[in-house]
Amino acid sequence: MPIFTIAIVGAGPAGYFAAQALQNSQNEERTFAIDMIERLPTPWGLVRSGVAPDHPKIKTVSKVFEKIAADSNFRLFANVEIGGDLSIAHLQEKYDAVIVATGSALGKTLGIPGENLAGSMSAADFVPWYNAHPDYADINPPLDCETAVVIGAGNVAMDVARMLALEPSELDTTDTADHAIAALKKSAIRNVYISARRGPEYAAFTSPELRELPKLEHTNVVIKKDDIDAAIARAGDAPEKDVKSNLDAMLVIAESEKSMHERTMHFLFQHTPKEILGSDHVEGIVYSTPDGDVTIKCGLVVTAIGYQAVSIEGVPYENGKVINIDGRVKENLYVVGWAKRGPSGVIGTNKSDAAAVVELILSDLQSPKSAGDISQLLTNQNVVDQSTWQKINEAEIAAGESLGKPRKKAITRAELLHLGGL
Ligand code: NAP
Repeated sequence: MPIFTIAIVGAGPAGYFAAQALQNSQNEERTFAIDMIERLPTPWGLVRSGVAPDHPKIKTVSKVFEKIAADSNFRLFANVEIGGDLSIAHLQEKYDAVIVATGSALGKTLGIPGENLAGSMSAADFVPWYNAHPDYADINPPLDCETAVVIGAGNVAMDVARMLALEPSELDTTDTADHAIAALKKSAIRNVYISARRGPEYAAFTSPELRELPKLEHTNVVIKKDDIDAAIARAGDAPEKDVKSNLDAMLVIAESEKSMHERTMHFLFQHTPKEILGSDHVEGIVYSTPDGDVTIKCGLVVTAIGYQAVSIEGVPYENGKVINIDGRVKENLYVVGWAKRGPSGVIGTNKSDAAAVVELILSDLQSPKSAGDISQLLTNQNVVDQSTWQKINEAEIAAGESLGKPRKKAITRAELLHLGGL
């Protein structure tokens, strides 16, 4: 029976769902040997380093990933970076198909004055900092100020604002990085503004995220009722379902009784960032609003306005995405997930997206190449394979157990490799 070899670059949700779709399409005529290659010593992509630590349920999808990885025709090559000695072209030569699933790791920028001041950063840096990504442990966000501002009205902005505004002891039972819990416990931030450039009817939050805000036990959440009433009027009699559920959820918050906690998360609408103020670090932000310019004094600005893909040599990019037609890039090269369609959708969106690309791959495959695999190309001795990853995974879970955490994450690459016995 023909065995086709497939390389998947990137061990995030899109990569795993592509592997799953391939596994599900095996039959008497074809099977797949899948090699998943990942730059970090750990797999799971945004499920490990993006999803907010106070959302553990979303992370249970990792069980699906581990089931996919348990297949005898699946191999993990983590701690292996594509570029330089090991190129996409090499993979294309060896494998029947190569699937790029590297996501979008770079934060988009506002392009306004002051954006490069110390204390102005992207959620693309801040989120992996609190999630123990090895490359972001040292970003030291300034938390010694009273007020922080988060720009953007999407779920990433919401995650960042919530992480800054909740009582940090609530993170003790989560897998938040130890350094982040320690820093947040010392934080002087008591006011967090989350700002949208358009009205509430255009917010990109999803309603479950809005509905959970009133459940925060130690944080006031403030939405101005006038803002929501005006948005409801503008949205008219038949708003789209998602818009209506968002406006309903925001109205509940706007109408709820005022709580008197020490920490407050404020929503601002129709606030377009104009300039970040400060001489060598952030001291404030100026917005243009329908009522004229508004200045908010703050010491931290986190921009959460979308992402773009980081380029890999040998892959064509445009507008922050891999150039592709329905997932086909060139020859035997394909793309799935955020690198393909841009940074949109929840984790599950990647399942149907990857399945559609796998359909195209199936229609393109002819006969197997039998040209070898990545193991002949590797000079790096510290490859984290599936069994090494399992050791790391089990060690982190065991270390978290006595602390009441789902896991205690190792931070540096060296620590991770040590846990894996390398
Ligand atoms: P997003 O949902 O696309 O939101 C981006 C936000 O940035 C929008 O409100 C957009 O406003 C704003 N924006 C863009 N350019 C701007 C500018 N120049 N100035 C001011 N605001 C600007 O992106 P995201 O929050 O990064 O999330 C990415 C995807 O991951 C989304 O599909 C999201 O739902 C998903 N996600 C899900 C969860 C969850 O399920 N809990 C958690 C995190 C992320 P405009 O509309 O005005 O352009």
